[in-house]
This record gives sequence, C-alpha cells and structure tokens, in this order.
Amino acid sequence: MQMHPKLQELKTRLAEVNDLNEANAVLSWDQMTFMPPGGAEARGRQIATLERLSHEKFTDPEIGKLLDELQPVVPELAPDSPDVALIRVTTHDYQKAVKVPPVFTAELSEHTSKTYSAWTKARAEKNFKLVAPLLEKTLDLSRQLANFYPGYQHIADPLIDDLDEGMTVAVIRPLFQKLRTELTPLIQKITSQAAPDDSCLRREFPEEEQLKFGLEVARKMGYDFNRGRQDKSPHPFTTSFSIGDVRITTRVKTNFLAEALFSTIHESGHALYEQGINPDFDGLPLASGTSMSVHESQSRLWENLVGRSRTFWQYFYPQLQAIFPSQLRDVQSEDFYRAINKVERSLIRTDADEVTYNLHVMIRFDLELEMLEGKLPVKDLPEAWNNRYFKDLGVIPTDDSVGVLQDMHWYSGTIGGYFQSYTLGNILSAQFFDAAIRAYPSIPSEIAAGTFDHLHNWLREHIYKYGREYRAAEIITGATGRPLELESYLKYLHSKYSELYQL
Ligand code: ZN
Repeated sequence: MQMHPKLQELKTRLAEVNDLNEANAVLSWDQMTFMPPGGAEARGRQIATLERLSHEKFTDPEIGKLLDELQPVVPELAPDSPDVALIRVTTHDYQKAVKVPPVFTAELSEHTSKTYSAWTKARAEKNFKLVAPLLEKTLDLSRQLANFYPGYQHIADPLIDDLDEGMTVAVIRPLFQKLRTELTPLIQKITSQAAPDDSCLRREFPEEEQLKFGLEVARKMGYDFNRGRQDKSPHPFTTSFSIGDVRITTRVKTNFLAEALFSTIHESGHALYEQGINPDFDGLPLASGTSMSVHESQSRLWENLVGRSRTFWQYFYPQLQAIFPSQLRDVQSEDFYRAINKVERSLIRTDADEVTYNLHVMIRFDLELEMLEGKLPVKDLPEAWNNRYFKDLGVIPTDDSVGVLQDMHWYSGTIGGYFQSYTLGNILSAQFFDAAIRAYPSIPSEIAAGTFDHLHNWLREHIYKYGREYRAAEIITGATGRPLELESYLKYLHSKYSELYQL
C-alpha cells in the first residue's frame, strides 16, 4: 500500500529533527568522554544552538498542521500499525512542546547552567547556602513549567509525565507508602545482624583487567559491539545515536571492584533495550524506550536480578578469579556473593544497596512534592533532608555535600519528575523477570551456565522491540499480564535477603 503523502512528509520532517538531536547526542557524549577542558565553552554553545534548531523545527506550525490533517487518516490505518503509534506519539510530544513559550525554555536553560556550576562549588565547599537562592528560582521555574499544563491533579504530575507518560502522584504515593511499610522492618532485621565483610572487593584491581572482564559480561548478555562501544566518563551513562550505534560509559575505581562491574552491567541493560528496538523505527520518535521507569527496569533487571544473583556468579566467579588470581584466590564464591549484596544504612544514594536504595529515592520524592506544593521552603530543605535521613535510615549527614547536595538532579534541571523512576524501575524489574521465568522456566539454570538467550529474547519480544509504539502501562500489562504492582518485587527482596541473612 502506498504511504499517505502527508505521513511521508511528517516522517521526513521528524527525521530531520531526529538528526539534529542525535548529532547533539554525539557532541554531549564527546563532552563527557574525550573533550579537553578547553572545549567546554564552545561546546556548550554548539549544543545550545542545535537544541534551539531542533526545537524550532519540531514546533514548526507545519508539523501541527500535518498532524491535524492526518487525524482523519488514522481510522483508515490498521489500529495496531506503527504509523498510528507514530501519529499518537508525535501529537503528544508536539502538544507538550508548543505549550512552553521559547522565552521560558531559554530562561530555564540559562538558569540551569548557572545553578549547575554554583552547585559544583557549593558541594565542594559543603555549603548549601551558596546555591539556595538559585534553587529557590528553580522551584519557581518548575512550578511555572507545570502550570503550562493546566488540569493536573497534582502539580508534579506534568513534570513526571515528561519522562513517565501517564504516571501520577496519585498512583505513585500509595505504592511507595506500601513499599516503605514492607522495607522498614526488613532493613531493621538485616541491619541488626553483623554486616558481611566486603573487603574482598576493596583490594587493588588494575583498570585494564576490570574493563576487560566487564566487556566480556556485556557481550555475554547480548550487547552487540558492532553497534556499540564502551568508554570511560566521570558518571556512567548510555546514549543512542541510532539503533546501529548505542554506547555506554563506565567509571573504574582500582580499589573497588563493584564500581565498574555493576555500572557496566547496568548501562548494558539500558543499551540492550535501545539496540533491541524495531529497526524500522530508526530515526523516528518511536525509536526510544517507552518510559524512564521501564528503561530503568531493564538496567536494574540485569544489574540486580541477574548480576547480583548467586546463579550468575556460579558461571562468572571462576572467570573473575582467573583474571584476578592474587586478589581473589582466597575468597570463596559465597563470600563474594555476600559482599556484593551487603546491606547497610548509608548516606549516599548511588552507593546504596538494592534494599535501602528505595528509601533514598522516596525521601527525595517526598521532599520535592512538599517543595512543589509550597509546604517546604527551599531554605529549610537541608534540615528536612537530615531529619528524614535520621528517621528513615538512622543516619545523619555530617555536612551538605553528603546530604542535600549529593545528587545533581535538582541542580541541573527541574525539581520533580525524575527520582520516582528509579524505584518504579526496581519494582518493574522483578515483575518483568518473573514473567520471563514463567515463559521460560529454564532461565535461572541458563544464567548459571552463562547463557542469556531466552531471557534476552523474551525482553526483546515483549519490551525492547516496541520502543514507544505502546505506552508503558500497555507494555507492562502486555508483557506480564498485570498492571504495575509490588508483589514480584517484595517476594524477590524477601526471599533473597531472608536466605542471605537467615531471617
Ligand atoms: Zn539507569
């Protein structure tokens, strides 16, 4: 069948927008990996120019007109055809984009870069007050941004919708509440015991061997290095320039083996998702993950449910020992397994284990809602932060750098819309993993043999290949037969940690 000429024109325009975005992604990737410091100023300008051009091209009234003209065509297309999904996704993105005046976007972006550099200074000097006035303005701008989308139930909803379409505070709050109620006694029981000794991870492990081992694990998982590569950067991330070029980065600590290893597995999980998208979608808005939470569920599934499982190390531990004979010869695999699953009450989210991690996220989520609701003034944030850390985790930050200043999120964008996806991703990781095992009960024994084909294929067929063709809620129900729910995740945590800690 001949493609409708208006649809063809829309695709041509969207491909141009996409080219600008992906060219910009190359610039950002280079900025974080190889660019010398002297390139910073010009690079910032180049990225801003490409962003502006892409935004102008995408919000061109011609695109709006094409979308209007295509609405009557939709009923003529097969309801589950990717073209229908493309029109839906583009309409959603377009309507969101045109609601925000360009002058606001420019103000927010200028304010954000000022705040980010003030934050790096404030964090180095361990002094929240240095960035507080700027953060007050960030809060104001975040509220303004939300108010470009009137009709919300909670002011955070439009911000959450940016990355997690359809998710709302009304759904997340009770879910998190229930999770916290389950986690608190579990953490209590675990941490009342002697903590496992993880000193075996803190010996000296040369960088080259660490990177080599991580790459081998990624390759086994199914990461296609003909369509990707790994480099080093201060903060690990995954970026996609096309379905044929999906890259990850890692960071190595020679005195801590878990750092590069689990960040590589985590980012490879993101990369498998991007590499697994239907190649027909390349260059179009359908060619990315369906939501931030579902994306995060994939990195967490591989990192935690696979990479921190005993079965995984049945295969990989002898190999790791062979690479690091002098460091690990005297370490039994069971001791290594306990070390990589050590649970402790700590101050830093990114270093937290998989059980306490969610408490760190929920603290941030609650505080940002309170700020957006106008109940928590920015100047009181450090005190509120420290109080919650004491109440929920029993620890008190010694200064702001290990407290309210530790994460870049609030200082490099808006307040609200991001943190929930980490815990939603954890919850979903177990829900998807359970469904995959129901389909292929042999998956655990395959993992023990270092093969991941059934798991990888199941994820590709039920999640990856669709990209944004279906919404997150549809993907979750389609893949697992159930809406988003806590059951699998709670069962996973309880059974794994009851056994580990003999609760
Ligand atoms: Zn991630």
